[in-house]
Amino acid sequence: MSLEQALRQGFFTTRLEALARWAMSNSVFPMPMGLACCAIEMMAMAGPRYDVARFGSEVFRFSPRQSDCMIVAGWCTYKMAHAIRRIWDQMPEPKWCIAMGACASTGGMHRCYGVVQGADQFLPVDVYVPGCPPRPDAVLHAILEIQRKIRERTEPVFAFPEKE
Ligand code: SF4
Repeated sequence: MSLEQALRQGFFTTRLEALARWAMSNSVFPMPMGLACCAIEMMAMAGPRYDVARFGSEVFRFSPRQSDCMIVAGWCTYKMAHAIRRIWDQMPEPKWCIAMGACASTGGMHRCYGVVQGADQFLPVDVYVPGCPPRPDAVLHAILEIQRKIRERTEPVFAFPEKE
């Protein structure tokens, strides 16, 4: 079959690696770590008005084994940080983290002994979302940033063991 005939039937060629990156970037499953008031805006993002389903991230997972993007929404106490880190450690690689709002990014107005001054003290944060609270469309933008990071990753998607 000639190339022209194949294209007429709807075929296209690409690299498996590019296809996998495209699929991964369009199916980010968030782990909603709602800790305070920011969580309400995070939930609004998933509703019909902002409709995160347009970007393939409507499947919020409450199991760390089934999610690959933690959204830390709200201020975090030192006591809670241990639990969050434990959940993060249970998420499979590759994974990403969004610090949503002033409190998750820097501690915000809670400059006191019991509050961690930013989720990046115990998590590798990829994207910071400013605001108190951030609007749902700002969190959508953060999801798009994560998608861009996935597409631009240099690590191979498929890692095959070396032959003995
Ligand atoms: S950034 Fe503002 S809205 Fe978000 S958790 Fe902190 S105080 Fe609440």
